[in-house]
Amino acid sequence: MKITKQAIFDVLKEISLPGEGQNIIDRGVVTNVMIFGDQVDIDLQLENPSLQARKKLEVTILRSIHQEVYEKAKININIKVVAAKKQLNPIKGKSIPGIENIIAISSGKGGVGKSTITSNIAVTLAQMGCKVGVLDADIYGPSIPTMFDIEGSKPLSVKIDGKSKMQPIENYGVKILSIGFFTKPEQAVIWRGPMAAKALNQMIFDASWGELDFLLIDLPPGTGDIHLSIVQALPLSGALVVSTPQNVALSDAKKGISMFQQENIKVPVLGVVENMSYFTPEELPENKYYIFGKKGAEYLAKDKGVPFLGSVPIIQSVREASDYGRPASLQEKTTISDKFNQITKNLVSQVIFRNKNLPPTKAVEITNLVGCEAIK
Ligand code: ADP
Repeated sequence: MKITKQAIFDVLKEISLPGEGQNIIDRGVVTNVMIFGDQVDIDLQLENPSLQARKKLEVTILRSIHQEVYEKAKININIKVVAAKKQLNPIKGKSIPGIENIIAISSGKGGVGKSTITSNIAVTLAQMGCKVGVLDADIYGPSIPTMFDIEGSKPLSVKIDGKSKMQPIENYGVKILSIGFFTKPEQAVIWRGPMAAKALNQMIFDASWGELDFLLIDLPPGTGDIHLSIVQALPLSGALVVSTPQNVALSDAKKGISMFQQENIKVPVLGVVENMSYFTPEELPENKYYIFGKKGAEYLAKDKGVPFLGSVPIIQSVREASDYGRPASLQEKTTISDKFNQITKNLVSQVIFRNKNLPPTKAVEITNLVGCEAIK
């Protein structure tokens, strides 16, 4: 068996770092490959990897070369760890120490699957080795506790540096705080803006989130007070907008995008995800029925000049998984987990691109905005 450099490169080109879209060759992680008979030496250069991410990468490389090139290859992987470039950690201002990226997930209309998308992206990120938190700020229907099977949980208080902090509840590797933990189901909706904003502030600043690569905030639908409170309180990395392809949902999603893009808000829109793109019976995955219209959210993204991150079909098991409290993408190698893998990688690529190319987002000072009238 003669191992070639090309064969090794071809394999490495299929591998990316946990949580990233770009492969390790294009990303510049592989600095050298040498072949000596059946011995392969690979040099890698990584920016501050977590131990888990590093192990995962090594195992993936070993397994892929053994499976696809030569099962008896002797492989040495040398990893050089370098300090991350400064601009990779750009969030300043009133940031939460230890939290790298805060992403708001919004939708124009309710019921389009915003929380479903949030929970599936969260577990996918966790499976990729990222540290993830979800803050459920949807006062109209806090459904994250149900989707993570932690309904009725009450966060404990822990002392950190002499201060009491709320301890998020953890499941499937995701830390969670929800407005639903503090209200009765029928109560949340009547919360007034300032009350909800105060509770949210506590869940953001008086919580012991620890170190997170991503904090996802599941916003209420529409463009209301909560949105303004969040952009005022936090330096968001960006926003993700979820919509179905249906016209009524799209026109509301458009307002959402305009709100983030407004001159005095300026939160980068990291992308649009289309949910309920078509119906697919699980046993006939080739059959697609475009119940709500075709590619509407994809066209919306193009029209507004923001990235399109992918589409998710209507699949019965997605709804069932949410109701059982086990997000569908926890099951590996299904149509739906493949979709969420791709969408999550696209999202992470956008965050990396944004962090490299845009200045840090500051918490917004809104002085001359009359509610959300300005964007209607
Ligand atoms: P939102 O957060 O926008 O109000 P949800 O995520 O709560 O919406 O979703 C509304 C309902 O639709 C839930 O019952 C959910 O399980 C279901 N649902 C969402 N996306 C899908 C999908 N792709 N396939 C099947 N059911 C879905």
